[in-house]
Amino acid sequence: MPTDIEIARVATLQPIATIAAKAGIPSEALNPYGKYIAKIDTQAIPGFEAKPDGKLILVTAISPTPAGEGKTTTTVGLGDGLSRIGKRATIALREPSLGPSFGMKGGAAGGGYAQVVPMEQINLHFTGDFHAITSAHNLLAAMIDNHVYWGNGLGLDTRHIAWRRVMDMNDRALRSIVSSLGGASNGFPREDGFDITVASEVMAIFCLARDAADLEARLGRIVIGRTRDKRLVTAADIKATGAMSVLLKDALMPNLVQTLEGTPAFVHGGPFANIAHGCNSVIATKAALKLADYVVTEAGFGADLGAEKFFDIKCRKAGLKPAAAVVVATVRALKMHGGLAKDALGREDLKALEAGLSNLTRHVNNLRKFGVPPIVAINNFTSDTAAEHELIRNYCRNHLGVEAVICRHWAEGGAGTEELARKVAALADEGEADFAPLYPDAMPLRQKLETIAREIYGAGGVAIDAKLQARFAELEDAGFGDLPVCVAKTQYSFSADPTLRGAPSGHTVPLRELRLSAGAGFVVAICGDIMTMPGLPREPAAERIHIDTQGRIEGLF
Ligand code: ADP
Ligand code: MG
Repeated sequence: MPTDIEIARVATLQPIATIAAKAGIPSEALNPYGKYIAKIDTQAIPGFEAKPDGKLILVTAISPTPAGEGKTTTTVGLGDGLSRIGKRATIALREPSLGPSFGMKGGAAGGGYAQVVPMEQINLHFTGDFHAITSAHNLLAAMIDNHVYWGNGLGLDTRHIAWRRVMDMNDRALRSIVSSLGGASNGFPREDGFDITVASEVMAIFCLARDAADLEARLGRIVIGRTRDKRLVTAADIKATGAMSVLLKDALMPNLVQTLEGTPAFVHGGPFANIAHGCNSVIATKAALKLADYVVTEAGFGADLGAEKFFDIKCRKAGLKPAAAVVVATVRALKMHGGLAKDALGREDLKALEAGLSNLTRHVNNLRKFGVPPIVAINNFTSDTAAEHELIRNYCRNHLGVEAVICRHWAEGGAGTEELARKVAALADEGEADFAPLYPDAMPLRQKLETIAREIYGAGGVAIDAKLQARFAELEDAGFGDLPVCVAKTQYSFSADPTLRGAPSGHTVPLRELRLSAGAGFVVAICGDIMTMPGLPREPAAERIHIDTQGRIEGLF
């Protein structure tokens, strides 16, 4: 099997206007970025707002393991499968961050014969959206320090400035720094630091904003610090939001690309799935829903984090009503959940597989709590055996009451997901979905966190010390009690311990910190070590990336 980049490189792409035409987007609405990428101005599509919405299908997964699950690959494969069976389908994905491309993970545009292309551009600078978000974020940072430099009229307490700086690169050297060194003309030295761009609140805002006006209003609500008498200071107080909106104006238009099989694909926005909600922009999802009958989209991490936030944050706030959820699982990952080590996954092991189904079971049952009917997609790996597939299919049918469909999109493209496509379309068409978030807006913040912990993680409770109890009260008193809670915890386990695979129960979720993202519109509950500026591994992927003698990029995988 050729590598992802080899497959992508030999693909024959269609001009972006051809892809757009398939989705009913006229050329007047296209802002092309080269031949195969365009930003879409939805206001230039006649009758756009009045079009009926298609059906929204979420692709999520079991708890991730080092064995790999393939959510993006399956999102693309399902989109292509739906196209192949004659449905008008579009997919909606996050934009990849540069950090992981040069670090460990490689590209994030799918894999094998289920990819979005042009993969090099999508994985590298693409249409500059992340640059725009980085610039908007750092403009606010610069204006904060400038405000202090010129007399600090707002009375900001410079010991508590909450707005750091961002860059789209894995660079641990910048996690904690002291800024304004070098003399009086450089301002007032203070502790500062960088996060990766995908962790910026501007990224989360960008992805939750309905339109330009909503974007600007949300930017204005960003809390950047407080005064000595504890009054919150916002980006609007710094008068930064007009200029930030201007920097984001073009970026806000969703990017259209194509899959290897020519299915239209929106790739737009990419917030972290831990301290943010981890899905592509609301603007892209809504545009896709207007333009297709079926929209397949992905949420980051496993369903306990990704799907929960997709439902409780994105769908709640954007008024989206998902029609079905696809839970991606692999034989290999299930065997790891059943206790096998990574180097033992190549052999058939029905006992480990059966034990590992506990993880899938919890996720499937969780999805039903949102009123969204699930279906399981087994992303086939070459080491899978027929007996292993049979065991999963029977278990799902008999014990979970769901279909499990074997998918071969990685090796075969859309031809390998036709069965999944037919079943997903039928499930969505049955109208069985009756979406509702897990908890109401009016529930107190603390109870929201406890509800997620109990209902989704199977936890006994949440450990909250006196200081954090006071912080809950402070947030409620300041008027943020009706926001949803965005949990940041390990994605590898239902518990807070990444080594506990399967479906641990009765554990305690330790709350460490509460952070307000007032602009994005959620309260982040940090329940573990969360890294907002990753580092590079000992041998970063960047060491192998280069341009060959024919001018082609090598090493992006
Ligand atoms: P996720 O979105 O869940 O993080 P991806 O879809 O990005 O996962 O896939 C992660 C990696 O696994 C990609 O490099 C992809 O090529 C690879 N992969 C996905 N499915 C398969 C498969 N069936 N066989 C082999 N490799 C796969
Ligand atoms: Mg992915």
